[in-house]
Amino acid sequence: MRAAVLYEPHGQLHIQEVETPARLLPHEVRVRTAAVGLCHSDLHVIHGLVARPMPVVLGHEASGVVTEVGAEVEDVEVGDHVVACFVVFCGACRMCTSGRPAMCQHREATMRGAGEEPRLSRAGVEVHQWTNIAGFAEEMVLHRNAVTVIDERMPLDLAAMLGCAVATGVGSARKVAGVAPGDAVVVIGAGGVGLNVCQGAALAGAQTIIAVDRSAHRLELAQRRFGATHAIQASEGVDVAARVKALTDGGADHVFEAVGAPGLVGVALDATVRGGSVWAVGVFGDEARIDFSAAHLHSGKGVHGVRAGSLEPQKDIPQLVDEYLRGVLELEALVGERIPLDQIGAGIDALAAGAGARTLVVF
Ligand SMILES: [Zn+2]
Ligand SMILES: [Zn+2]
Repeated sequence: MRAAVLYEPHGQLHIQEVETPARLLPHEVRVRTAAVGLCHSDLHVIHGLVARPMPVVLGHEASGVVTEVGAEVEDVEVGDHVVACFVVFCGACRMCTSGRPAMCQHREATMRGAGEEPRLSRAGVEVHQWTNIAGFAEEMVLHRNAVTVIDERMPLDLAAMLGCAVATGVGSARKVAGVAPGDAVVVIGAGGVGLNVCQGAALAGAQTIIAVDRSAHRLELAQRRFGATHAIQASEGVDVAARVKALTDGGADHVFEAVGAPGLVGVALDATVRGGSVWAVGVFGDEARIDFSAAHLHSGKGVHGVRAGSLEPQKDIPQLVDEYLRGVLELEALVGERIPLDQIGAGIDALAAGAGARTLVVF
């Protein structure tokens, strides 16, 4: 099968033949990929901000159809439509058994061991499977807990985005922050995740939702389709915090940093009302450090990390599918372009340039 392989940071993605094992382990499934989204986290690896073993196949929000199941897999069947999501959980550790699979402490239990044939290889050399998914490929061999079976009425291309952009964004607002009716919310960064934070805040009943971005196009999309009530176009000389305070009577209840820029956490704190919360949703580079005035803490403000919107895949993804099918959840407007695997390099370049909302590679 063909996959897009990255050999070194700053390198190109090479479309090449890659092998998957002929035999599945008892708890694995084989999936023919239908679609995969291009996400800024993939870009972080390509740009060397997040160091990972190479060569590697990236891609961590995917969908597909199951073509084979291992001997001990009882609740997934050949032909099932699935979302493959980077929240791959062991199901047995303290965090998993207390309903927090996104914080799983034993992800290695969902990978193949050192002595076993790798899930991906080329000419006998292991190709790493990023986030346990490696969706930039025509076929995925996955741990059973990497997939969630979904309603077959759900369009498979749109379903791919449920695994990262939608789960992280909507989950950050609804589950993690617990945005409540009447709240004032700010979302810094209106990309695939940020638009979904806006959407999640709107679904939770927030009264004021202020989207902040450099791109007028994204801000327009946030307001037209994702529930933002106000927009602030960020540029040199624009005091975002002052604008937010003027719009919200002293600051927002929840401010979401959905860019992954350490310097924006301080801006977010400035825009937060006394006693309010900053939620760091964006993925920061390995070397990132965050600097902010300790006085914010004495104002009762909190800064909280967010991981995958605290996604519980088996529970939350079917709920998101149901909301889409009922016309409650916006997905189509997230898609900038649909491209074939051969054009993934151009898709990555466009992502780096900040174009579009979400590019989907469709197989
Ligand atoms: Zn992602
Ligand atoms: Zn676990």
